[in-house]
Amino acid sequence: MCEQCGPADGASGERGNQRFTALSRRKLLLGTGAGLGVMVAGLPGLTPSASAATLKDGKWCNPARGRFPAGGNYGAPRGGYPHAGQDVTNSTGTAVYAAAAGTVVRRGTGVLTGRTGKGLVIAHGGDRYTYYGHLSAFRVALGAKVAVGQHIADMGATGNVTGPHLHFETHRGGLGSTTNPVTFLSARGVRLGGGWPAIDPGAAGATVRAVQHLMTQRGTALSADGAYGTVSVKAVKKFQSSKGLVADGQIGPKTWPVLVHSLRRGSSGSHVRALQTVLNKHGAGLAVDGGFGTATDSAVRAYQSLNRLSADGLAGPKTWEALVG
Ligand SMILES: [Zn+2]
Repeated sequence: MCEQCGPADGASGERGNQRFTALSRRKLLLGTGAGLGVMVAGLPGLTPSASAATLKDGKWCNPARGRFPAGGNYGAPRGGYPHAGQDVTNSTGTAVYAAAAGTVVRRGTGVLTGRTGKGLVIAHGGDRYTYYGHLSAFRVALGAKVAVGQHIADMGATGNVTGPHLHFETHRGGLGSTTNPVTFLSARGVRLGGGWPAIDPGAAGATVRAVQHLMTQRGTALSADGAYGTVSVKAVKKFQSSKGLVADGQIGPKTWPVLVHSLRRGSSGSHVRALQTVLNKHGAGLAVDGGFGTATDSAVRAYQSLNRLSADGLAGPKTWEALVG
């Protein structure tokens, strides 16, 4: 069994851990499914019927790229108490992003539980919190206001670990009241750890604008208004049919790879506009001019480096997957 995020051997922080543990167990016993409707209904201006992708843009994002290690799931037994978060494995130094906008309310070693090393807590309002543990470095100060997707820390191996990874927790109904981070983010259209996202009809935002630029490059000129409405959905369905895919209008793991283009310095066109759009989503600040020049090249390499991708300046499927995920 993988011992990542295992219980602390010593007595350090024991009292806090026990209190925390009791709360986690109570929430686990209550189950995770029943809470979802409440969470979605609790988001201002959104209804439970809103599609997952609609909830995503501008609200929540994947905090770190990586894999789920064996035994690192939420609720996995940890020497008498359930694992309070989800582990995401990658190398030390991998960027950790704020899963949503908020305020850094705790920052330091053992700020939530001693065994998860250096960590920080972000308050998102509405009694919702996220916790990031085992960090190697902080990128934001205590008390800082952070934007969704902001680089807040670097992945590390501090605390009780067998290797570098992010220990990520989601809390709702107050700090100490954990919920499954995978389903919490999934309900907001975000896949923890990465992977191609699913964009459903009705979605809106920067990723949809990128899709519209990509469709324009594929031969169906679409207005890049960021709204995945009737005209765009019809175009995507036609594109899916032409590629032998299920023409359901949902842009998911099968559609993305055939929609994106591998791009490098010197490329030009609407596909480059799409790339610049998603780079800007991650703070690149590029002009969306369709020309892959020095600035775009630098932005791609910087993003690749931060996300432990090969920093070769080639925006291929892996880089696209990270950018749109
Ligand atoms: Zn963990």
